Amino acid sequence: MQTLVTPEAALSTVLAQVSVLGSEKLPHKVVLGRTLAQDVVSEIPLPPFDNSAMDGYAVIAADLTSANETTPATLALVETIGAGDVARHEVTSGQCLKIMTGAPLPVGVDAIVMREATRPNGENVEFLSPATRGDHIRRAGSDVERGETVLRAGDVVGAAQWAMLASLGAAHVEVFQRPRVGIITTGAELVAVDVPLLPGQIHDSNSFALRALAENCGASVADFRHCGDSTTEFEEILCEVCAMCDVVITSGGVSAGDFDPVRDVLRDRAEVHFWKIAMKPGKPVMFAHFEGKPVFGLPGNPVSVMVAFEEFARPALLKMGGRRAWKRMEVPVRLQSPLRSPAGKTEFVRALVRSENGSWSASISGDQGSGRLSTMTRANALLVVPPATTFVAAGETVMARLIDCPEIE
Ligand code: AMP
Ligand code: MG
Repeated sequence: MQTLVTPEAALSTVLAQVSVLGSEKLPHKVVLGRTLAQDVVSEIPLPPFDNSAMDGYAVIAADLTSANETTPATLALVETIGAGDVARHEVTSGQCLKIMTGAPLPVGVDAIVMREATRPNGENVEFLSPATRGDHIRRAGSDVERGETVLRAGDVVGAAQWAMLASLGAAHVEVFQRPRVGIITTGAELVAVDVPLLPGQIHDSNSFALRALAENCGASVADFRHCGDSTTEFEEILCEVCAMCDVVITSGGVSAGDFDPVRDVLRDRAEVHFWKIAMKPGKPVMFAHFEGKPVFGLPGNPVSVMVAFEEFARPALLKMGGRRAWKRMEVPVRLQSPLRSPAGKTEFVRALVRSENGSWSASISGDQGSGRLSTMTRANALLVVPPATTFVAAGETVMARLIDCPEIE
């Protein structure tokens, strides 16, 4: 019998066999979701100038030393400035200036007093308490200094990073190319979602799972093809897709059946790195190079294909797309019901993980048959059951890999 590779060894092989793609300089408006290809070093301080953190009054703190409710300090109001204005007056002792949040600090002042601690009085303002120098002032460079490395190559541009790039005035940003993925589904039984089923047929669902999973990794699906179970047809399609893409992902036809074209074509024509993994679900995974492109031959069963993608194709796409990190967050979870698992294989058990009363718990999302897509729709984690573990009792702890964290009810 052929020895199965462990998932860990298979992942190391995958990561060693795929390379980081090149980069491109793009306008700021299109880089959301992209991966930075260069460290971002600030050319300006943030904030760019000293400014007020409050709507209030700009004062000289020494003018308010003895201010209190009964004997307020009274200062002459010389000007009002909003964010975007620059004060015309230099403030001297006995004067104050009304200022809004974000307005530049006027020359001469050293503190901001919030409105709540003041009382207007005609042309003057009464201050009801003392102030300390520096109160409510945001200093230039207090968030980011000029020359500071703010973001690193390999970081994803999410909301905060996109906003930060805008704050820095980064009108163009060097980002990694998105891996162009080709998806090929195989199977004579498959029909499109809008075609009524004839006996023996099912709707193709894997192409949608793969497309979504690939896009979630920042990849773009450059080509999508369907193929029956003929090896000649599959080889032709594979050649065409390889020519257009950086990486190819196939579904089905890679197992031990009579009509498994992916297995036959890759075995005979490609450089195969591994086939069959000691894991459940997702044992029949073939990883190869065909015409210089990495090809993931993933299983056909709808859960197997998703789990195999998660374990191997996802890290590969993230690495190719320049990400620094591809490990999922893992948390120890308490099982709500007992779990049996086969010896000698790592099992990835679909589960719903939630945090309750300060601890993480997991309920298994149903029968673990690899065709049961419904259990995947109710899972936000894969419990990782090591090969030597055959039973875990309710209340015991296992590690959960968080694969999708939507809002919880
Ligand atoms: P295979 O690996 O080709 O033997 O397929 C294993 C199982 O997965 C079979 O029951 C197939 O009908 C099913 N299957 C294969 N490809 C797809 C697909 N694209 N969408 C839904 N089910 C599929
Ligand atoms: Mg098939």
